[in-house]
Amino acid sequence: MSVTLEAAPLSPTRTVGVRIWTVATAPAAAAVPYDEAYAVLDASERARLAGMRRVGDRMRYLAIHHAFRTLLGRRLGVPAEEVSFRRHCGKCREDGHGKPRPVGPDGRDLSASLSHSGAYALIALSDSPGVEVGVDIERVRPHMDWSAIPCVDGGRTTHGFEQWTRAEALVKAAGTGLSRTPPRYTGRVFGAWRAATVPHSAQEWYVRSVRCPDGYAASVASASADTRVSTAAWRS
Ligand SMILES: [Zn+2]
Repeated sequence: MSVTLEAAPLSPTRTVGVRIWTVATAPAAAAVPYDEAYAVLDASERARLAGMRRVGDRMRYLAIHHAFRTLLGRRLGVPAEEVSFRRHCGKCREDGHGKPRPVGPDGRDLSASLSHSGAYALIALSDSPGVEVGVDIERVRPHMDWSAIPCVDGGRTTHGFEQWTRAEALVKAAGTGLSRTPPRYTGRVFGAWRAATVPHSAQEWYVRSVRCPDGYAASVASASADTRVSTAAWRS
């Protein structure tokens, strides 16, 4: 069974749908045989895997990328191993480096984002390839020193991590890479979305929190303020 969504043109009246899957990495790793998951990876993913010394890291990486490719393949209507990635940099606007963009054998592409921290990963997939998304999850660690991070006021721990994931999600959506200057809220608010500017990006971006497991903070960013977010738990 494959699910294929038509790539609809962007229109000012069209609401963009972004689906976010939470991947619990230990159950995900247990659910899929190693060989089966390994078979869907490409050469660069296999090289990355081979460079990981700890078994736990390798199992996690394999489970996350198997889930990611499976979801992308379903959306593109192709087997997971036929998804490839094209890189484009949002900062210098050149191909070959920067944000990876999933693409099918026929050239159709998707807007997607992947993040992992601790025992979880989040996968965000936009139903509109022209609307970039970024997602970020961080495990909340106590005793963080937020004093050096300008976009965060130093109060409660969760608040700090939320602000951090918002900045990361925005930068990932824009594909500009990390910069010394963090994204900045413009003050405009659209429902749950807060508008922000991202260094090296000319357009306005929108960011909000995402429901995630206890002990974690997560955010999603989109190029459209008219984006509806739905969440699901990943099961292979
Ligand atoms: Zn670049």
